[in-house]
Amino acid sequence: MLNIVVNPNQILRKKAEKIKDPLSSDVQKLIPEMIETMLVKDGIGLAAPQIGKSIRIVVIHHKDRDLVMINPKIVRKSLIKEWDEEGCLSVPEVFGDVKRCKKITVKYIDESGKEQILSGEGLLARVIQHEVDHLDGVLFIDKAKNLRRIENE
Ligand SMILES: [Zn+2]
Repeated sequence: MLNIVVNPNQILRKKAEKIKDPLSSDVQKLIPEMIETMLVKDGIGLAAPQIGKSIRIVVIHHKDRDLVMINPKIVRKSLIKEWDEEGCLSVPEVFGDVKRCKKITVKYIDESGKEQILSGEGLLARVIQHEVDHLDGVLFIDKAKNLRRIENE
């Protein structure tokens, strides 16, 4: 399992680099490690800067599927926004309410190197926006209202 980088850390604040070759052995080796780390940590999404790599890869667990998004770009956003609670593996035990677009469309390269386009709403749209923010050095606590600390028992 990979180690999770915890806030504050400069790597979480850098703009991550685009992946030039999604099929390179480094990328192909990293993807299953990121998925495993996300699942073991009970996360629903993980961005590469969170495991100490400043590159544009995110993994998302949605409806029993693991989505891999390389160089994701949000190409459409709904005007309607909604508030909901968020947390982050890199900001342990802290939760807050974040306003996000209700629906989005994202373009990305999948793990087999194919270009994909996906529309999502609700939780899926929220997770994608949260993870893409990580690639731009943005954390949910920058946007959240009503931040609160919840200690694990
Ligand atoms: Zn996060």
